[in-house]
Amino acid sequence: MKNIPISVAYGDGIGPEIMNATLTILEAAGARLEIEVVEIGEKVYERGIDTGMDPKAWESLRRTKVFLKAPITTPQGSGYKSLNVTTRKALNLYANVRPAISYSPFVQTKHPAMNVVIVRENEEDLYAGIEHRQTNQVYQCLKLITRPGSERVIRYAFEYARANQRKKVSCFVKDNIMKLTDGLFHKVFDEIAKEYPDIEHETWIVDIGAAKLADTPENFDVVVMPNLYGDVLSDVTAQLSGSVGLAGSANIGDECAMFEAIHGSAPRRAGQNLANPSGLLHGAVMMLVHIGQVDVASKVHNAWLKTMEDGVHTYDIYREGISKEKVGTKEFAQAVISRLGMVPSVLAKVSYQETSSFMKGIQSKQEEEKRLEGVDVFLDWKSGTPDQLGNHLQKVKINNLALRVITNRGIKVWPSGLPETFCTDHWRCRFQPQPGDTIKNLDVVELQKEVIRAGFDVIKTENLYSFDGVPGFSAVHG
Ligand code: NAD
Repeated sequence: MKNIPISVAYGDGIGPEIMNATLTILEAAGARLEIEVVEIGEKVYERGIDTGMDPKAWESLRRTKVFLKAPITTPQGSGYKSLNVTTRKALNLYANVRPAISYSPFVQTKHPAMNVVIVRENEEDLYAGIEHRQTNQVYQCLKLITRPGSERVIRYAFEYARANQRKKVSCFVKDNIMKLTDGLFHKVFDEIAKEYPDIEHETWIVDIGAAKLADTPENFDVVVMPNLYGDVLSDVTAQLSGSVGLAGSANIGDECAMFEAIHGSAPRRAGQNLANPSGLLHGAVMMLVHIGQVDVASKVHNAWLKTMEDGVHTYDIYREGISKEKVGTKEFAQAVISRLGMVPSVLAKVSYQETSSFMKGIQSKQEEEKRLEGVDVFLDWKSGTPDQLGNHLQKVKINNLALRVITNRGIKVWPSGLPETFCTDHWRCRFQPQPGDTIKNLDVVELQKEVIRAGFDVIKTENLYSFDGVPGFSAVHG
């Protein structure tokens, strides 16, 4: 059978040791791979390449479309871009799949029955990296949630559940507060869930959902969530399962995929033959499944499970009374190799099946009618009270656009605000026509000019649209 080309990066810190261990195991198991080594990480950053990835590495990734990556050290300070975030976004790796499984009684965990897979949206949310300082006091980070992005990751979660004989998909959102952004994620989840009547589905508000996940992870199966919640909670679940050193992850796109450990480069452990290569090995097993080498994936995974059962453990999971032998990275790899062909006797044996490429593509929703309903004008202003600001701005009118409400940090302060409300130098002033009246984009520009002429510092404006009559902006309460 043909060898499959893959790009491999050895990374920084413990990266080279755990990559060597992983590749030695894959080779011994008969993985049919053609390895192209690419350079990424610290050394590349030091050469002044702010993405941390050599141009030759990009070329290799785009050609092989499969990337096995050891962790890298991200230099401190601004000016460096996160290589992970750049790779995920540039290659459209929209789903980050992170299984967290208990190996009790062989690896100590408070949750012996947990077997949960976090499917994290990987490109959007606050990780769009669009941040601004707008006033002396106020900084902003834009949270972007899109319908195509939500659709892709949620559909992936259901397809993953179906392909892996899982029973339930849970969705975590905070749409009681972020009604439009997280609200969209929730809505798309409900729409897509209908296409999978064989799979149970449920939605949790992320705070209580996270508490339940940490307390009784055995009640969850596949959990899909926007980027930030998924980032945080997949580390939590990995740690709950025994060690961050155990979990692997797959970053999946329609064209390319990247496989790695969830942990970082652990510089303090580097060069001492101490690190646990299991996280990266699990990433590599997911890679083998992805490229259709399910026989090798099952063989490696079962040998690894047997090694766990036999108590051959690296320092991070070694426990007196449970473990039998404390080994280093290289010895651990040899222990797995010597068990290739064996299966575990207590832990569940793994048998990967080939899955067809299942992404259906994005279902484009019918375009809704978009109508301009008004504008939020944001000001940097520190010269007085909300009432003084309201009195000034009431005089500014363009056609039928007039000031309706002012908020500070989202809280209504005019008309009739409370004197107790703390105000920063960042004001949102909402201008709208009378209900039923229409306005044009140029009215917004004219309004902005008038506000500037009246002596105010306009930071930005945000148009208020409705879609098929439904407001596409948050209401002001209070
Ligand atoms: P880390 O995950 O590297 O290490 C935290 C601690 O976890 C270590 O001190 C060690 O005790 C333990 N640990 C992690 N991996 C282990 C393993 N394989 N075996 C045994 N013990 C292990 O997190 P950190 O210290 O916050 O970050 C170190 C560097 O890694 C930073 O530069 C960070 O930016 C980078 N990082 C990279 C990635 C990536 O490349 N995917 C991910 C996270 C962090």
